[in-house]
Amino acid sequence: MKMLINGQRTGASDGGVLEVCNPATGALLDTVPAATAADLERALTAAQKGWPAWAGTPLFERGAILRRFVRSIDEHNEELSLLLCREMGKPISEARNDFGSVKHLFNGFVEAANQLTGMTMPLGVQEGREKDFELAIREPLGVVACIIPFNAPLVLFSHKVAPALIAGNAVIVKPASDDPLVLLRLGELLWEAGVPGDVFQMITGSGAQIGSLLAGDPRVAKVSFTGSTEVGLAIARAAAANMGHTGLELGGNAPFVVMADADIDRAAAEAAAGRATYVTGQICNVAKRFLIHRSVKAAFTANLIDRLQKIIIGDPEDPATQMGTLISESAAREVERQVAHTVSQGAKLIYGGVRSGAYYTPAVLDEVTGAMDIAHDMEVFGPVFPLLTFDTLEEAIDLSNDTIFGLGAGIMTGDMSIALRFAMAVQAGSVIINGQSFYRSFMMPFGGYKQSGGGREGLTVSLQEVTQLKSIVFKNVL
Ligand code: NAP
Ligand code: MG
Repeated sequence: MKMLINGQRTGASDGGVLEVCNPATGALLDTVPAATAADLERALTAAQKGWPAWAGTPLFERGAILRRFVRSIDEHNEELSLLLCREMGKPISEARNDFGSVKHLFNGFVEAANQLTGMTMPLGVQEGREKDFELAIREPLGVVACIIPFNAPLVLFSHKVAPALIAGNAVIVKPASDDPLVLLRLGELLWEAGVPGDVFQMITGSGAQIGSLLAGDPRVAKVSFTGSTEVGLAIARAAAANMGHTGLELGGNAPFVVMADADIDRAAAEAAAGRATYVTGQICNVAKRFLIHRSVKAAFTANLIDRLQKIIIGDPEDPATQMGTLISESAAREVERQVAHTVSQGAKLIYGGVRSGAYYTPAVLDEVTGAMDIAHDMEVFGPVFPLLTFDTLEEAIDLSNDTIFGLGAGIMTGDMSIALRFAMAVQAGSVIINGQSFYRSFMMPFGGYKQSGGGREGLTVSLQEVTQLKSIVFKNVL
C-alpha cells in the first residue's frame, strides 16, 4: 500500500519500503513506504496549510463527513476484518468485533463536539474591570500528530483521530510498522468520505526515524502518542523543545488483587479473559501481576489453569479460534526471554510457556516474589500470569504501588469497604472493582499515573485535550 500525503497515495521519495508479514504464516502480506524526511516535510507543509480551512468548515459539515466515513466501514467490514486478522495474527471473530468501537467513537465524538462550549466570565468580579465583558472560546490546536502502537490499532486510531478532526485540527498519523495496513485503508476511507487530503494524512516507516522527526517538529502542535514508556519519554523530550502539547498513554504492569472472600471462579474468569484471549494478552491496561491471598491461592491457580487449558489456540482465520499469535516472532521470543529471566530469579513455570514461531501458549509463573523484576517494572506484553501471594490488604497495596507504572488496577472482594480502601490507595489511572483492569469504556477518562503517561482520553475529555481556550475581552463596553 501507499502512504497518504496531501491527497495522493504516495511512495517514499527514495523508493524505500518496509515489509508487512502475517505472523501466523510468515507470509509477506504487502509493503508500505519507508517515509523519508522529504516525505514528512511535504506532509507537514500540507497540514499546516490545510487546517485553517477545515477549522472554518461548519461543524455540521465536518460531522456529516465523519458520519459518512462510519457508514463506509460497514460496506467494507469483511475486507477490513480479514486484513486486521492477517497483519496481527488476531482471531477473525475478534477482528470482526473490533470495528464496532471505530463506529461508536467517531459517531460519539461528532455528537460530543456539539456540546463543546466555551464560557463567559461573571461580570464585575474585579474592581476596575466592571465595564468589561470577557468570554473564552475553544479553538483547534493546529496540526496533531497521532502515533499508534501495534496492539490496538483501531480503537486507538479512533480515540485520537476522531476528536482531533471533529475539533478542526489537521491530523498526521504514524501507524506501527507491524500492522499499518488496516489503518491505511481507514485513512483512504476518510478521504473518500470527504476529509480533505491535506487535513488527514498518514506516513509509514520506522518510528525511531520518521516518528521521532514528526514528534519533534515545531509545526506539530500536539503529539498524541500511545506506546511504550521508553518511547513516550523520548517524545515528551522532543515535543518540549517546541512547547508542543503531548498526550501520552504508556506502558503498564497492572495488579489484580484477589482477596480471601472473593468468588474464585469469577476471579479466575476475569484473569484469563484479556490476559490470554484478547490480542493474546498484548494490552496496556490488562492485569499483568496477579496478587492472590494466601488462603485462596491453590483454588485460584487450579481454576485459572483449567480455564487456560480450554482456550482454542490456532489459525487466526478459523472462526473457532480464540487465541492467535503475538504480533511477531520476535515479540514472542521477547516474552519467552522475560519468562526465562523470571525463572532464573526463582519463579516456577507451572503451566504453558511454549513458543512456536509467533505463537506462545499462556504461561503461569508461580512463587513470584517482590524481589523479582516482573513484580515491579518489567512489563510483559503477552499471555503470562505471574502469581504473587499476600496476607494483608496493606501488603497488597504496597506491592501494587511498587512500580514506575500506574495505568490500571483491579480487585475482587465482596467487601466494598476493602474495595474502596484499595481504590483510594492504589496509584493508577483506573481501578476496577469486581474485575481486572482490562476495562476501558468509551466515556471514561482513560490514562495513566506515574510513568504510565499524562493526559486523558475518552468521549468525556478528549475534545478539551485537542483544543485550546482563547480569552476575548470587550473592554469598556458595559
Ligand atoms: P512502541 O514500540 O513504543 O511503538 C509505538 C509507536 O511509536 C509505533 O508506531 C512506533 O513505530 C512508534 N515509535 C517507535 N519509536 C519512536 C520514536 N523514537 N519516536 C516516535 N515514535 C516512535 O510500542 P508498541 O511496542 O507498539 O506497543 C506496546 C506498548 O504500548 C506497551 O508498552 C503498552 O503497554 C503500550 N500501550 C499503552 C496503551 C495505553 O493506552 N496506555 C495502549 C496500548 C499500548 P514503529 O512501529 O515503526 O516502531
Ligand atoms: Mg514496538
